[in-house]
Amino acid sequence: MTLFPTTIAGSLPKPAWLAEPNKLWAPWRLSGRDLDEGKRDATLLALKLQEDCGIDIVTDGEQSRQHFVHGFLECVDGIDFARKVEIGIRADRYKAMVPTVTGALRLKGRVHGREARLARAHTTRRLKFTLPGPMTIVDTIADAHYGDRVKMAMAFADLLNAEARALAADGVDVIQFDEPAFNVYMREVSDWGIAALHRAIEGLACTTAVHICYGYGIKANIDWKATLGGEWRQYEEIFPALAASRLDRVSVECRNSRVPPGLLKLLGSKAVEIGVIDVASDEIETPEEVAAVITAAADHVPKEAIIAGTNCGMAPMRFDVALAKLDALGKGAALARQRLA
Ligand code: ZN
Repeated sequence: MTLFPTTIAGSLPKPAWLAEPNKLWAPWRLSGRDLDEGKRDATLLALKLQEDCGIDIVTDGEQSRQHFVHGFLECVDGIDFARKVEIGIRADRYKAMVPTVTGALRLKGRVHGREARLARAHTTRRLKFTLPGPMTIVDTIADAHYGDRVKMAMAFADLLNAEARALAADGVDVIQFDEPAFNVYMREVSDWGIAALHRAIEGLACTTAVHICYGYGIKANIDWKATLGGEWRQYEEIFPALAASRLDRVSVECRNSRVPPGLLKLLGSKAVEIGVIDVASDEIETPEEVAAVITAAADHVPKEAIIAGTNCGMAPMRFDVALAKLDALGKGAALARQRLA
């Protein structure tokens, strides 16, 4: 396998003809059959752009979902989308209007079958698919049925497992669960967060990963990061638990983050997808800067275990900026390969 294979956390911006640009939860600009066809075309475009930029493990760019959590929830019975309430999410870091669980949770059918099979049919590269993690889901929804966060998380984990198994059967190589809530509820990660992920990956023969992060480059997150001090040591608490988990890979932001690279050692034998591209800034990294982050990580993680990625999803970014950053990612990894091989 190539040294320092490249990937993205998951999402890319959507073309302006598909959804309003530079926005999280951006409203679709198409409907009905036009929307279905628009999602298809945007998925093909996302694959092509990643391939052109030298990305080794590609994704569908999450072009078929409006939001990384709610794209999944839309296909779940037992949730009342008309009953929206405002809650403080990520320990009240920001407010969101969320739907309410009102009955037993059940999948209506396949969630991402269409885009996964489409992507598989149109790329020969390794294909990664992202799903929201159980802890992040229960942190992004109101509950009027289970009365217990852990019970509800386990119910979601069972649904995620069913979809993950189907994605693996579609030919997906890597299934990644996005758990930004993991750096908010550190104690719960060891108490039940990893157990919920284990339930979600049960029986999967493909590679499994968890993405943890400090969030998209939206204002609430940038303001929060400013309060965290010179060194972000939150992960010190959860890395040992992740190292002991049955997940294969951990994705963590490293570019412009204040996570001390030495903490990566605590991930033990896991493959580490290090974020080498900042998604909270429009400044385009140079290949030199990308290679420097990889080099710094290589002091603490075996070279063979390093995958170079983006800090987080690129969904809310400007399209041209995201594309330039993808290009820098591909070139920077190539440079690091040359130097450290
Ligand atoms: Zn993220």
